[in-house]
Amino acid sequence: MNGMLRAELDRWAAAERTATFWWRDDDAVTAGPALDRLFAAAGAVPLALAVVPMQAEAALAAALAATGTQVAVLQHGHRHTNHAAPGTKKAEFTDERDLDAMTAEVQVGRGRLFEVFGARSIPIFVPPWNRCPAALTARLADIGHRVLSAYGPRPARHAAPGLLQVNTHADPIDWRGTRRFLGLGRLAEALAGHLAARRQGTADAVEPTGLLTHHLVHEPEDMAAIGGLVAEIAAHAAARWLAAVDLLEAA
Ligand SMILES: [Zn+2]
Repeated sequence: MNGMLRAELDRWAAAERTATFWWRDDDAVTAGPALDRLFAAAGAVPLALAVVPMQAEAALAAALAATGTQVAVLQHGHRHTNHAAPGTKKAEFTDERDLDAMTAEVQVGRGRLFEVFGARSIPIFVPPWNRCPAALTARLADIGHRVLSAYGPRPARHAAPGLLQVNTHADPIDWRGTRRFLGLGRLAEALAGHLAARRQGTADAVEPTGLLTHHLVHEPEDMAAIGGLVAEIAAHAAARWLAAVDLLEAA
């Protein structure tokens, strides 16, 4: 394992603290080789799969039922359509859009996921491109969501009354450049960096450190390498990979 990450985990062990992690993978819509590679990489580590509701296919539900990996389904927006104004950052939900229309989309999407995936669908909302206007965030709990998950250290434990925030913190793809894997070293450093910030009190100490992957983008060998790192972390005495359902309570 990367030396920086091992040293950081050792500090958590020395302090008799548990370094909590979770693994979110975005943009699932159907089954296929990339999804199979994600499951193989995860093995016994639980996965939180952010699924695009209106594109989700029955084949995806069948693949989840067939895998030995523990997989929870999170709501990834509605159609994953970019509604941002030209020249601004991509987003499905924006301050410029009608709030009632966006609310209806989240409701419809949540219903669809429950239809397709049943109890595997849990009340965690993952806005596409990790952007959600505050006005919509304020309505998510009324729709039945209990957690908002975006990117970066959370500014507060709750995103809105009745709505926890549990983000991801390490996204190992160079989205603005090559759109390829940044490498295991960079990934390990990002994980270690968030852990250190939690330990030192510059980030919320109890927010689990979130790994974010995109199974449709990663090369096969890179997904396997990520799985190897995840397994190494899991084998460390201080580390624990949480299931998505744990986030509803423990975060
Ligand atoms: Zn997405």
